[in-house]
Amino acid sequence: MTNETWGQVREELIKRVGKNNYTTWIEPLKLSHLKNGVARFEVPTIFFGDWVQRNYADHIRTQLTSAGALVDRVEFAVGTAAAEARPAIAAAALKPAAKAARTRASDEELPGAPLDARFTFDSFVVGKPNELAHAAARRVAEGGPVTFNPLFLYGGVGLGKTHLMHAIAHELQSRRPELRVLYLSAEQFMYRFVQALRDRQVMDFKELFRSVDVLMVDDVQFIAGKDSTQEEFFHTFNALVDANKQIVISADRAPGEIKDLEDRIKSRLQCGLVVDLHPTDYELRLGILQQKVDFYRSQYKGLVLADGVLEFLAHRITTNVRVLEGALTRLFAFASLVGREITLDLAQDCLADILRSSDRKLSIEEIQRKVAEHYNIRLSDMIGPKRLRNIARPRQVAMYLSKQLTPRSLPEIGRRFGGRDHTTIMHGVRKIEELMTIDSQLADDLQLLRRLLQG
Ligand code: ADP
Ligand code: MG
Repeated sequence: MTNETWGQVREELIKRVGKNNYTTWIEPLKLSHLKNGVARFEVPTIFFGDWVQRNYADHIRTQLTSAGALVDRVEFAVGTAAAEARPAIAAAALKPAAKAARTRASDEELPGAPLDARFTFDSFVVGKPNELAHAAARRVAEGGPVTFNPLFLYGGVGLGKTHLMHAIAHELQSRRPELRVLYLSAEQFMYRFVQALRDRQVMDFKELFRSVDVLMVDDVQFIAGKDSTQEEFFHTFNALVDANKQIVISADRAPGEIKDLEDRIKSRLQCGLVVDLHPTDYELRLGILQQKVDFYRSQYKGLVLADGVLEFLAHRITTNVRVLEGALTRLFAFASLVGREITLDLAQDCLADILRSSDRKLSIEEIQRKVAEHYNIRLSDMIGPKRLRNIARPRQVAMYLSKQLTPRSLPEIGRRFGGRDHTTIMHGVRKIEELMTIDSQLADDLQLLRRLLQG
């Protein structure tokens, strides 16, 4: 692609992101490289790059693609020196096989998805919620004899599945460069399979996938319900397991819980080691923030970060590490643009939208579940009709917390407590407020529950 095309793309981007954003964030970008599906731009600062990556990379990629440039990934680097120091792309994982006579072009060039150079074991912060997944990933990354197959990592969005998979690939590339490691998303697997069908190159496809030493497929839930892709995946999977090749799979839930996934695939997926990444806890979130800040500090000497800001973020943004990192990046970008110290006030202003939507995440169901667990009663009793004190009281606690911790109205809360009237909820909330002041055990319970629920 030429700079002319980039010129057209820029026109289109103005329409998409608005003139102001365009002038601030896109105009300064310099296209420095476009090869192998990667478009690299030079940016003035690291913050700038992070910001554009998070907010505009998708727009840019989409526009480049519709202008006819095949771009899988857009990356941003500070000057050329920085680009070399931190290659955001590791070599596409698949190395050409020993030159067998029959190798076809497609055999050699079918690369895996690019690896993000930032996703290494070094940059992965280990805490209670992910220690098992981390240990298992480390083990696979040693490249020793296959002990469990597949390694199946699962967990909610933004908890580090992709990060761990890339880390395995990086590590294997440096420890065991002779191994053919292929990393790709399930979506790409399907895409390539469909392409192979269309081009009548299914045999090549099969051979290629059977010739790898380590196969990593990310977000495998994607192929649920896609019958012929599942079928092909199943065969690939079996062939590799039979040949004692390592497979690493990720998904957003446990194998048994993926709807529309064939039972035989589920059971094969369960044969290896299945580990979940639990939702982050406060300590882990703080650790991740600290690591990120250390990195920023080394880039930007002048930044002043007030005490308590990281703690505040770790406390308030509880679901997704990507959102947490995004918040920090935005905060730093903003502070450095306006030349201000990063204080709690600034954080509250600058991140109001994230903080608000992060609050909304806590559902009444979660509250009911935690409270039921805490008092050792059944979840169904939360919504059921029982009036016994040892059930009614926890139920009122859950009503109270629902009122306190979610933006739901009393009638809405009532509906989620088995269709109770809003006056019943109000009564429950008042009751707890009243008891709290005289019953210190209850007050303690509430404090603990609140902490558990808010992370
Ligand atoms: P998933 O694939 O589970 O949705 P990702 O691996 O893409 O999540 O992680 C989302 C973001 O959070 C990435 O930028 C990743 O580096 C970061 N992240 C997640 N967990 C950790 C961790 N334990 N330490 C450092 N960064 C993390
Ligand atoms: Mg992922």
